Amino acid sequence: LTKIDLVNYYQLAEKRILPHLANRPVSLLRAPSGIEGQLFFQKHADTLHIPGLKELDPAFDPGHPALIGIDTLEALLGAAQMNVIEFHTWNATTKNIEKPDRMVFDLDPGEGLAWSMMLEAANLARTLLEEIGLQCFLKTSGGKGLHVIVPLKPRDDWETVKDFSKAISQHLAAVLPSLFVALSGPRNRVGKVFVDYIRNSRGATTAAAYSVRARPGLGVSVPCSWQELSTLTGGAQWAIANVQNRLKSTDDPWTDYAKTKQTLKPSMRKILMH
Ligand code: ATP
Ligand code: MN
Repeated sequence: LTKIDLVNYYQLAEKRILPHLANRPVSLLRAPSGIEGQLFFQKHADTLHIPGLKELDPAFDPGHPALIGIDTLEALLGAAQMNVIEFHTWNATTKNIEKPDRMVFDLDPGEGLAWSMMLEAANLARTLLEEIGLQCFLKTSGGKGLHVIVPLKPRDDWETVKDFSKAISQHLAAVLPSLFVALSGPRNRVGKVFVDYIRNSRGATTAAAYSVRARPGLGVSVPCSWQELSTLTGGAQWAIANVQNRLKSTDDPWTDYAKTKQTLKPSMRKILMH
């Protein structure tokens, strides 16, 4: 697969990916000499010469050059032309940078974990979130695992949202210690699912929905419906070689995402053990 395949993919996926990039800081993973070569994770616009790339308010990242904005097809394809493979985004929009508009749970399989347990873990995470009154959305990571996204009205600050996500992760590990672990580090994770909540920090990023991944096979992070969960075969089930059909024939499974208006409530927090 070549750069032409990458550019063609982003051209095809334009309408799907741009809403997930627009109006929020974006970090780019570039692979100028291919995915086997050195990879560059770039948060700042200063050294990049990509047509259409937006420089965001420097106050978002004090003491650093401007953060990157990608709002147009020109910038998206310009980035792909410059060997950008992955697009990662903040959990807040530029309109309201101190108030996250989502909470992200990154479900990572520990060594030796059967994929069926990953599906079980995602289903249980969803059950807990719905139990406390939060709707959530599923996507493959395009790599090894799954991401569960909870859209939020931008009301609480970074600290509050991160604390809440930590309580969710720790609750899962406390209630089901044989399946979940809340501690990072590969030794703690063997045969278990690590529910990473650290991406809910200010300035942290997660691979955007419909981003390609700079891994062998060029997996794609693909939004799924919860009905599809049991049919998923891996985090890289879809890649740029086989995702085209899905993009052309299947409606976006996250149509309810933008309609989901919800906030964290103290009553939800009381249900959690931590
Ligand atoms: P998998 O399913 O394989 O775990 P993933 O997308 O969940 O895939 P990684 O690819 O390991 O996990 O993602 C690493 C995280 O760290 C991403 O959220 C990314 O935005 C962030 N990241 C990656 N490289 C850097 C970097 N150099 N500096 C800061 N953050 C980074
Ligand atoms: Mn992960």
